[in-house]
Amino acid sequence: MNCRNAQQSRLRIKLKNNDIMSQSQEIETPSFTVSQVQQQIQDTIVPVEEFEQISAVQGLNRILASDIVAGIDVPSFDNSAMDGYAFAECDLRLHTELTIVGRSYAGHPFQNRLQPGQAVQITTGAQMPAYADSVLPQELAIVREESILDIREIKIRRGQHRRMRGEDLAAGKVALTKGTRLGPAELGLLAALGKTDIAVQRPLRVAIFSTGDELGLPGQPLNPGCVYDSNRVTLHAMLTRFGAQVLDLGILKDDPAEIKPAIVNIVPQADVIITSGGVSNGAADFTRQVLQQCGHINFWSVNMRPGRPLAFGQINQGHDNSYVFGLPGNPVAMMAGFYFFVRPALHSGAPVSMTPAVKAIANMDMPKKVGRTEFQRGICKINSNGNLHVSLTGEQGSGMLSSMAEANCLIMLSPEQEDIVSGDTVKVLIFEGLL
Ligand code: AMP
Ligand code: MG
Repeated sequence: MNCRNAQQSRLRIKLKNNDIMSQSQEIETPSFTVSQVQQQIQDTIVPVEEFEQISAVQGLNRILASDIVAGIDVPSFDNSAMDGYAFAECDLRLHTELTIVGRSYAGHPFQNRLQPGQAVQITTGAQMPAYADSVLPQELAIVREESILDIREIKIRRGQHRRMRGEDLAAGKVALTKGTRLGPAELGLLAALGKTDIAVQRPLRVAIFSTGDELGLPGQPLNPGCVYDSNRVTLHAMLTRFGAQVLDLGILKDDPAEIKPAIVNIVPQADVIITSGGVSNGAADFTRQVLQQCGHINFWSVNMRPGRPLAFGQINQGHDNSYVFGLPGNPVAMMAGFYFFVRPALHSGAPVSMTPAVKAIANMDMPKKVGRTEFQRGICKINSNGNLHVSLTGEQGSGMLSSMAEANCLIMLSPEQEDIVSGDTVKVLIFEGLL
């Protein structure tokens, strides 16, 4: 990556709200609710407004930089929604049979105008000939002597099985709005409009690293008292799925002399820096100490479990600046922090796509402490009546990554909720496509 360009790009990211509790000295960590923290982050972030032109077929996951206006009607001609016979509905009252005078196949329109008393054989998507306004499905048609359509018993509505020109997308109308994240349907829509090139936001550059003396690299022997670094792999995957460009800085020791230059030096290249570990108030929580020295960083104790400690703010290096998220080290807490705080922030400039929660029936009792948000790992299943039921995965420790792998949803319990009793209705967030 070209650092000079990156430097210029940083100029455009400014801290909108500099006064939110920036701390350079050790103070008590304030406690906030999930939505308060989400709001503070949203209020602070100014989206990166840099665009690039790409081929539409490469557009999966990218964010549109401008509205897409339909240049053509889709479909661009009236056509049939069924295989069958096309004719004018008024002919049903004037005739007992119609003469099949030709065919209109998809891509091979019938060239002439139909005359009263005439029909054409038509296929799905084929152009409706002039004068024809309705289609009789093939399975209802009685055809004699190959070219006579018997219509004595036929009852159809005028316009039946006819698709109107422009009924999907009308020329001149906005088909997709700026800020739309492109998924399979949107890409198909661009193709349907004949678009080949589109302007999109450039991908966000996100630097990640793990902190902890106890972290080992998969593939290498594990020292006594150590664990393999799983957070970086999880983070990398979540960011890649999101569409970010990941700068992987590896593992940093619990040593301010190592952490500080690593953070500071990456600022010119990163829109966002995400760390995991070391943001609590413990003796070896050096990420927190270093972040305090480097920039305007807020340390929050979020009233949720897992994922209580969170650092968020901005680091400036000359003209460059990066937003920083310090996520907790516990793997489940890290993932929860990513989903509820980082992901919506990365979406800035685009509609925040928090997946809607759905209601499920608890299949078991679930202990819950009043006064905090809890995200428990659940397994959702649809029973034979079509109702959604949810059970806990088992142990719910914030270090238990296996609970995330086993789960297919998070059970979201709000601060005011008490212990859940089997049969209660709870809100769940289905994982598919999220993390
Ligand atoms: P910390 O937030 O640094 O106090 O770490 C909390 C817990 O998360 C400890 O048990 C760490 O060993 C664990 N942990 C921290 N970072 C990682 C990581 N990158 N991968 C797996 N576990 C981690
Ligand atoms: Mg640590």
